[in-house]
Amino acid sequence: MNNTLALIKPDAMQKGFKDEIREDIMNNGFIIAEEKTLHLSVVQAKGFYSIHKDKPFFEELVEFMTSSETHIMKLEKANAVSEWRNLMGATNPAEAEAGTIRAKYGTDISMNATHGSDSNENAEIEINFFF
Ligand code: ATP
Ligand code: MG
Repeated sequence: MNNTLALIKPDAMQKGFKDEIREDIMNNGFIIAEEKTLHLSVVQAKGFYSIHKDKPFFEELVEFMTSSETHIMKLEKANAVSEWRNLMGATNPAEAEAGTIRAKYGTDISMNATHGSDSNENAEIEINFFF
């Protein structure tokens, strides 16, 4: 079993997709080992996405991530990192494969419904950030 960190971002929470996304996660063989809902502070959002601090979209990303509540989950499954990224689909919902979470629930490249860790190393860092 491996772990990854998943977020249901403010756009999907505001649109009421939390329960559907949790169902998709569980129906795809993940165990939700820990979870909580938080309204991220600016400090938390900047810290969590600090690798993007020099990107042109950083301010927009922080504003979005602090706009309302985020649901935070520690997921367990074999190859959890890649399995969860495959289930989420591409960063831009317009390019995400049909049936993926971002294709179904995402709005645009910024408001794209969910987050997933991109490596086992970052999964551990991100899980420790929130749990
Ligand atoms: P995440 O890290 O949230 O799982 P990702 O790994 O698919 O997404 P990253 O490149 O790490 O994509 O970007 C982090 C987040 O920043 C994206 O999920 C999205 O919310 C936002 N983002 C990325 N690119 C852009 C962009 N060009 N314009 C606006 N927002 C963007
Ligand atoms: Mg990323």
